[in-house]
Amino acid sequence: MLNGSIPEADGKLLDRAEELGANITHLEKMWNYAAGVRHWEPLFPNHGLSLVPAKSPLWVNYQGRRFVDPPLVGAYDTLMLVDRICQEKKKYSWQVMNRKIANKEFAVSGAEFNPAVRDKKMLAFILRLLKGNGEQVQEFIDHCPDFVTAGTVTELAAKMNALTGTNDVDARRLERDIADYDDNIERGTKLQNDDQLRRIAHVRQYLGDRLRTCNMARIVDPDAMPLIAIRMQILTRKSLGGIQVDLDAKVLDQQGNPIPNLFAVGEACGFGGGGMHGKRALEGTFLGGCVYSGRVAARAINSGQGVR
Ligand SMILES: Cc1cc2nc3c(=O)[nH]c(=O)nc-3n(C[C@H](O)[C@H](O)[C@H](O)COP(=O)(O)OP(=O)(O)OC[C@H]3O[C@@H](n4cnc5c(N)ncnc54)[C@H](O)[C@@H]3O)c2cc1C
Repeated sequence: MLNGSIPEADGKLLDRAEELGANITHLEKMWNYAAGVRHWEPLFPNHGLSLVPAKSPLWVNYQGRRFVDPPLVGAYDTLMLVDRICQEKKKYSWQVMNRKIANKEFAVSGAEFNPAVRDKKMLAFILRLLKGNGEQVQEFIDHCPDFVTAGTVTELAAKMNALTGTNDVDARRLERDIADYDDNIERGTKLQNDDQLRRIAHVRQYLGDRLRTCNMARIVDPDAMPLIAIRMQILTRKSLGGIQVDLDAKVLDQQGNPIPNLFAVGEACGFGGGGMHGKRALEGTFLGGCVYSGRVAARAINSGQGVR
């Protein structure tokens, strides 16, 4: 696994709370991502970046075999994506696409790669949405060790194998899976019966997704070369478990009684997802629960609850 958080997120706070009598719970409920790639300028060991997995590439396993029933499609169900990939003998996967798909759909999570969002520059954000993300794609092709490009599927498979130092990827199998998918697109909308295409058609009904999702893009398309394969590892992000609290953010002991003067908020007590959201937390809304739980604690403290 790659580390998608920071080394300081080491759980020591939970250990200290436990020493004070707190009930620590649900630590097994981790929120991990399926599309991690290695940072080429790592700030700490195993530093990973989380790609927002695109919808139009073909998602294949470590052997280059397409995931089917259902096909894996980015941004649908993060827990399912991670579970499905981890059922394989080797627990990493690949997305195979062409440059045109990458330019339109490529995105990286985090402020470092989204300056327009970070700096609240709405115009720059909209322009990038309309223009695509070609510059960032090039940056990753040039620097990220998990990207390979090629002019043909055979060459791509050879480079995928070189990257992992194996012969796992079967070029003919990959070629066949890509050809099946591309043929399905060629049939036209009335005869397409691929679940990935159904999902793409569905998400494109919403304008926000239409702007950043290709319209039935073939993988092998002479006008969209080169082919790109991205090797993706599971990446850690956050914990949905932690210090058990009541609805006033008071820390509870193992008998369920509040510990005087001890409050907990945010991800430390599972509100970076989990808790308020449920196990299949809605992507991108974790921060809200953290901020809200801080407000709840402040109100309780201000009104003298749980304080001696
Ligand atoms: C790369 C990345 C991208 C993410 N993207 C999203 C997203 O798009 N949407 C979303 O909703 N969530 C996202 N999350 C999750 C979300 O950001 C976190 O769950 C949330 O920020 C946790 O907030 P918090 O206040 O509980 O903890 P933190 O933000 O970790 O704050 C804890 C603070 O305590 C400080 N601290 C630690 N020890 C001490 C000490 N001993 N004394 C004093 N201070 C101390 C730390 O320096 C830190 O500032 C992302 C997380 C990561 C890592």
